[in-house]
Amino acid sequence: MSDTPTNPNASFSPIVVSGIQPSGTLHLGNYFGAIRQHIALHDAFESYFFIVNYHALTTLHDPEALRTYSFDVALDYLALGFDPEKSSLFLQSDVPQVNELAWIFYTLTPVSQLEKGVSYKDKVAQGLGANAGLFNYPILQAADILIYGGTRVPVGADQKQNLEICRDLAMRFNDRFGSGEMILPVPEPYILDDVAVVPGVDGRKMSKSYGNTIGIFDEGKALKKKVMSIVTDSTPLEEPKDPDTCNVFALIRLFADDAKREEIAAAYRAGGFGYGHAKKELLGLIIAYFAEARERRHELANNPSYVEDVLREGGRKGREQAEVWMTRVRESIGLITTY
Ligand code: ADP
Repeated sequence: MSDTPTNPNASFSPIVVSGIQPSGTLHLGNYFGAIRQHIALHDAFESYFFIVNYHALTTLHDPEALRTYSFDVALDYLALGFDPEKSSLFLQSDVPQVNELAWIFYTLTPVSQLEKGVSYKDKVAQGLGANAGLFNYPILQAADILIYGGTRVPVGADQKQNLEICRDLAMRFNDRFGSGEMILPVPEPYILDDVAVVPGVDGRKMSKSYGNTIGIFDEGKALKKKVMSIVTDSTPLEEPKDPDTCNVFALIRLFADDAKREEIAAAYRAGGFGYGHAKKELLGLIIAYFAEARERRHELANNPSYVEDVLREGGRKGREQAEVWMTRVRESIGLITTY
């Protein structure tokens, strides 16, 4: 007998899905922790990337902000190299079937499982009014994945628990309604290359909740001000410094090629190289790294109807795929449709 593990999803075509929150301006942490990998994956697999505006409603009740952030995510992805000919990019709310599937999943999820949800528990612990949307967030996320028959989900460590709920739901659904067959795939986490936590200007994890972010498309004075405000220790300019404990260098490392990284690390260790110098190097690296994308983003911002067309076409493909899976689900669960 071979002990090679069998792929439980072997009968399904590989499909990558991922949702992107439109709840703030995308920052360098999002880029190196998620977007860069999304762009690589959308090239390699049939994939569905959607802007999760329903999820954003669990924390954002500002219509203008929701509209702006949603559109900006599309602009950012397209500027950063997402090619709508290769994969679909669309708005979550353009695929209404996702809420239909979520409802079915509600009826299959024990409340006790949701009560263990990390983000829900965090909000409650912070004394914030956790709404029912936040409580049920992982269910909508499971529907987001399975409505497209997703077999692979790129996840950061923070999202692992929610994917577990999705896998449990798929298995429970298959057990209950599959008569021995797999109706839904049981999606696997897509292990991304080793993504370090990107520090924010205060040295904590870069996060919009900490107000310590550098936006991917920050520019000019605003960008310079943020880079210059990165917290460092007070080692005098002339003394040698350790690059490996410096927040500025942690960011330089992400942008510089090997030769440049070594050159700057050597300057740190030699002394006579101050944090001001390091910040100038970082500023130059960020500007150069996103120069092309920044130009593309300006062009796209001047052509909003193109961006809308991309989202519309992506939504059409999303609905088409969602209907295939929803039909399968409705039939297996006994929902009769007469239209
Ligand atoms: P935020 O903390 O700003 O609210 P999100 O939770 O919306 O960011 O993150 C979206 C994606 O970006 C997640 O996959 C997460 O793993 C990644 N990400 C966010 N911040 C960082 C960071 N500082 N370093 C690495 N990855 C990050």
